[in-house]
Amino acid sequence: MNIKQIYLSSPHMGGTERDFVKEAFDTNWIAPLGPNVTGFESDLEQYLGSERHVAALSSGTAALHLALIMIGVREGDEVICQSMTFSASANPIVYQGATPVFVDSEPETWNMCPVQLEAAIKDRIEKGKKPKAIIVVHLYGMPYKVDEITAVATKYNIPVIEDSAEALGSKYKNRSCGTFGDLSILSFNGNKIITTSGGGALVTRTPAEKQKAVFLATQARDDAPHYQHSEIGYNYRLSNICAGIGRGQMQVLDEHIGLRRQMNQFYSDLFAQTEGVEVFSEPNSHYFSNHWLTCITVNSSKTGFTAKEIRLSLEKDNIESRPLWKPMHLQPVFKDSPYYGEKIAEELFLHGLCLPSGSNLKDADKQRIMSVLSQFL
Ligand SMILES: *Cc1c(COP(=O)(O)O)cnc(C)c1O
Repeated sequence: MNIKQIYLSSPHMGGTERDFVKEAFDTNWIAPLGPNVTGFESDLEQYLGSERHVAALSSGTAALHLALIMIGVREGDEVICQSMTFSASANPIVYQGATPVFVDSEPETWNMCPVQLEAAIKDRIEKGKKPKAIIVVHLYGMPYKVDEITAVATKYNIPVIEDSAEALGSKYKNRSCGTFGDLSILSFNGNKIITTSGGGALVTRTPAEKQKAVFLATQARDDAPHYQHSEIGYNYRLSNICAGIGRGQMQVLDEHIGLRRQMNQFYSDLFAQTEGVEVFSEPNSHYFSNHWLTCITVNSSKTGFTAKEIRLSLEKDNIESRPLWKPMHLQPVFKDSPYYGEKIAEELFLHGLCLPSGSNLKDADKQRIMSVLSQFL
């Protein structure tokens, strides 16, 4: 096939990233610390607002791992996690020797169902173990039901780890995603809304928590002239080169969110007359999604075609699309973990599809996508 591949979401540089990286070379800050790391952290702090503190790390997964360590999750503990998500939300629970307890989604935001969450907490307490933390996700950039989830967590006094890896720039009631958890995480992997080629961040409420995260991320060195350690440390800090890319990306973040939201509108217009195809969009005006990826669900009894048929047709034209996240409670690796819920996440997985959503898609790309999809309408 010699036509150019259209991706779901690919890196989109704004232009100034190179200048920050060049400066790192010119000043020989080729290390996991330096002015770009500090600069990127303060850019993120300003962007998020709500007086949050940011520790730039090597990945979103590393940020989740440190969040669990800081909350004190240890071997034998249980941690509640949204089932419908990327495996990186759940894996760090197992790094700590703890057990994930998965919870189903609700149909409006596709994120953790507050009713099932409470049922899960009650049942785990009855069985003898109160969950140590709740990991909840803003899937595809759509904020979860923040008020409802926070209310349940507060009622049972369980800390929330907010996985905002896909939701930088999204808002709930006009407040930024990444500021709702007791601890929150961001990701700057290659396919995310901004990228540092690989990277992540832990967002904290106090400077002391940020300091603790940086301490753990740099091998937990005690304050001494020699190398002295009283705790196990990690090598999780972001490099000054990667942070330079991040600083450039911050300058175009809002513009790129605008373009992703235009892609969402493009698909909404395209499927407007098609009964049985729903474009995933905000349930009401409290929600503002960065629309990192635009997703659809296909009710094949109404449409006469399936999500899979759309995916295969796009593939023939070298256009990438992908089923929604396969729920964690259906993954072979988590088959022994408890699960609370019904079949909301399972149904979404069976009937959903993520469509090309990058901020760098050109009119010609949209034309190609449209001509394949038009066959189905
Ligand atoms: C990407 C992602 C992560 C992990 O981030 P990395 O930077 O790739 O380690 C975690 N959770 C969700 C929901 C993600 O999409």
